[in-house]
Amino acid sequence: MVDGRRAGGARVARAALGLAAAGGLALGLARRWTGPAGAAGAAAGDDGLYPDAAERERALRYNRTREWLVLVGMAWSALLSLLALATGFSARLRDLAARVTPRRLGAPVPYTLAATLLSTLVTLPLSYYSGYLIERRYGLTNQTRRAWFGEQAKGAAIGLALELPLVQGVYWIIRRYPQRWWAILSALTVPFTILLANLAPVLILPRFNRFEPLKDRALAERIKALAAAQGVTVSDVLQMDMSKQTKKANAFFTGVGNTKRIVLGDTLLDEFTPDEVEVVLAHELGHQVARDLWKLIGLGTATTIGTLYLVHRLAGPLLRRVGPRFGLDARRGVEDVAALPLLGLLLGAVSLVLTPLQNAISRELIERPADRYALDLTGNSAAFVGAMEKLGRMNLADPDPPALVKFLLYSHPPLRERIAFGRGYGAERGA
Ligand SMILES: [Zn+2]
Repeated sequence: MVDGRRAGGARVARAALGLAAAGGLALGLARRWTGPAGAAGAAAGDDGLYPDAAERERALRYNRTREWLVLVGMAWSALLSLLALATGFSARLRDLAARVTPRRLGAPVPYTLAATLLSTLVTLPLSYYSGYLIERRYGLTNQTRRAWFGEQAKGAAIGLALELPLVQGVYWIIRRYPQRWWAILSALTVPFTILLANLAPVLILPRFNRFEPLKDRALAERIKALAAAQGVTVSDVLQMDMSKQTKKANAFFTGVGNTKRIVLGDTLLDEFTPDEVEVVLAHELGHQVARDLWKLIGLGTATTIGTLYLVHRLAGPLLRRVGPRFGLDARRGVEDVAALPLLGLLLGAVSLVLTPLQNAISRELIERPADRYALDLTGNSAAFVGAMEKLGRMNLADPDPPALVKFLLYSHPPLRERIAFGRGYGAERGA
């Protein structure tokens, strides 16, 4: 992607697993969240992103609100998990689930189905606020409320269709291999992620948007020639009706093997000059050349191994200590599906630590090199800077977020750094 937080099929799996985070830690962080915008704040206004101070203020407010909502969302998930445990709800739901299904199948699937539906429902007001109302208040959405709800329902249905068989498989493995399950599941993540990466562009993404070959054939030819000169075959450059949902612009690459493709939002195509589109594509091409998708899969797998191992080591002692109080079967350990909220809390806590690390790797080892590649390939630093500025304005980006926000949430370098990089590159080469 050229901007923002990475989308993709892995989100479904992560959402299913990482439902919770540690509320105390989140609140501790919250106090530092709104700190000063760093040293660069003093020089605000000279990065050329926003025409005036009022628009800049608006952008900053938008970003701070969204960042707060991330915290609120984590705290809310943690609270739900704690409540489900403390009230004995989780244990009762497990008993009920066991009664309604044949013994052979067990409680996990009906339990997860009910828990997912319930948590989606009680989180809906928050999702609506952060996913739709905020976007509308800042004039960034093109969707009606009805369309938004329709997409949420569709997303939830697809999520459940993927989640339920997965849950059945996961619990079968946990039962069968009580000591080794974390290693087996980690190993299975690789083929599963590759399968999902293959299927998402053809089976999931088209359920939400229309994808078609780039309409501007001259531009398509120019891009293919650019790629071919580097010995890269671009299988497909597609455009997508991103304007169906948003006024924001983006481009990304998806798929592996046969479904590998570069996708441009129509919002981006409408606003960017051909030179700017070219430089954005060169960035995406940089990801393909560097095989970044494989790096991301490797990174994701390493994270999964670390996370599941920690959960395996921590869950046993934790369950023996607090399990009986919540009606959990400490002898069965993680095999007891009623312990899922506790596992969610553990996963959330671990990912609070690992996500910033993942983001740092993405920023420094994946996105910065892709920017450099785009500049090397096109030699057009003016177009690079122009594209970054437009991207920032269209997406109401914060060019210079507080250090803590960048550390926790940014998978890409902040725009101020990217623009400075582009300008520096141009100055060095007199371009
Ligand atoms: Zn990128």
